[in-house]
Amino acid sequence: MSRFTLIAGNWKMFKPPREAVQFSRRLVEAMEVPKGREVVIAPAFPALAAVAAVLQGSGISLAAQNVHPAPRGAFTGEVSAEMLRDAGCRYVIVGHSERRSGFGETDELINRKLVAVLASGLKPILCIGETLAEREREKTLEIIARQLNAGLKNVAPDDMEGAVIAYEPVWAIGTGKTATPGQAQEVHAFIRGELGGKYGTAAARRIRIVYGGSVNPGNMGQLMAEKDIDGALVGGASIEVASFSQIVNYAEV
Ligand code: PEP
Repeated sequence: MSRFTLIAGNWKMFKPPREAVQFSRRLVEAMEVPKGREVVIAPAFPALAAVAAVLQGSGISLAAQNVHPAPRGAFTGEVSAEMLRDAGCRYVIVGHSERRSGFGETDELINRKLVAVLASGLKPILCIGETLAEREREKTLEIIARQLNAGLKNVAPDDMEGAVIAYEPVWAIGTGKTATPGQAQEVHAFIRGELGGKYGTAAARRIRIVYGGSVNPGNMGQLMAEKDIDGALVGGASIEVASFSQIVNYAEV
């Protein structure tokens, strides 16, 4: 099993373009991307093109945080996958829980976004995860199965090359409460099993499943020691150079 570790920083709505560029320069200077690891950062839309220029040749890739499902059209305020590709993106985050809960994104819409991302040659990072109430009602795996299968509807095995699933328990996002490595591994193994049922075991073994939810330099190594955890989607700890660099340079414990 040799899956390339993916560590992605989701900057949410925290860095205006000028700050994003300065931060990216500092990151590029401070960080050498370790062998076998892929580092991705996701600034807000207005910063994408300028940050892409800073990242050239650095080994760090660019992601967008959202996308509209249509290729183009009269959708005021929206951004298409083609535009993101043109701006220098390689990945697009779809289905983040903040978009599901704050912007009413449904599994059906998320699937249309994911299909649009693939059609444009970009790689989706599909976020799925249960709320605290769902976990307490022991509905976690049911929710995960629903979000995963709906999100990947009509997606062929070949399209899954390079696609990433992010398990992000909603109760762990921005709360400082991390899933234990065991809790995360249980869900990651379940996701891999579901992917196996859908795409075959060999393909499922190649798909990266990353964990997100209060990842920090102190817990990354333990999470990464689990066999089905292939990296991290990092929010809060990705907006400081020191903490993000430490996460990228984690050692398994
Ligand atoms: C996220 O927003 O995807 C996330 C995981 O945030 P945090 O690391 O701050 O919990």
